[in-house]
Amino acid sequence: MLSFDVVQNPSPSELIHNNRILVVEDEDLIRDMIAIALKEEGYEVICASNGQEALNLLQTQESDRVNSLVSLIVLDLMLPQVNGLDICRLLRYRGNIVPILILSAKASETDRVLGLEVGADDYLTKPFSMRELVARCRALIRRQNYTTNNSNATVQQFGDIALFTEECRVIVRGQEVSLSPKEFRLLDLFMSYPRRVWSREQLIEQVWGPDFLGDSKTVDVHIRWLREKLEEDPSHPEYLITIRGFGYRFG
Ligand code: CA
Repeated sequence: MLSFDVVQNPSPSELIHNNRILVVEDEDLIRDMIAIALKEEGYEVICASNGQEALNLLQTQESDRVNSLVSLIVLDLMLPQVNGLDICRLLRYRGNIVPILILSAKASETDRVLGLEVGADDYLTKPFSMRELVARCRALIRRQNYTTNNSNATVQQFGDIALFTEECRVIVRGQEVSLSPKEFRLLDLFMSYPRRVWSREQLIEQVWGPDFLGDSKTVDVHIRWLREKLEEDPSHPEYLITIRGFGYRFG
């Protein structure tokens, strides 16, 4: 059974406006409880009770990028029609980077890893407390807002790597390294979304553009060059991590 903690009312300064969350869950009771808990935190909530309904709602979002429909998706894995993993895969394949919190009924590690590998940002295993769910949602939205607000920041820092966006310079362990324009754009993208898994197709779309005619091996070659410039030991990378069967992750 789920345990439902009492959610504390936020102070006015914590109230979040224009932050809409899509809750995709086929069990009415759980969906209603999640919606109530998130609304009490000041979020606007829209619900879908199956996978197809969720995809239809999200299609509207993708065709209306200026006025984004949702800033977070709470996504159950076991859903009628289209399951949660397929929704996640499909959105990431399309280049939709809305944060996704997976709800899983199974506690097995495989499901957890799989959830992250298909591009989810976090997961919770049922049963979970509403307090925990709300805290995870708040953290994901904050992180997303931070990334969005800082996308034009002059400097991005991660570990020993500093990237100066406007100057197109990269400093690694105190030394300036010289990157080609494509390497720079790849690294800039990776550093803007630490730990997000990208498929080769998504990287091509973002860095080379939709008209690129080469194949996805191009990505592997650029990753290898980047590793040689960034990693202390390129054969055991710490920054540019290969996710087998999916693509790459930074950090
Ligand atoms: Ca379910």
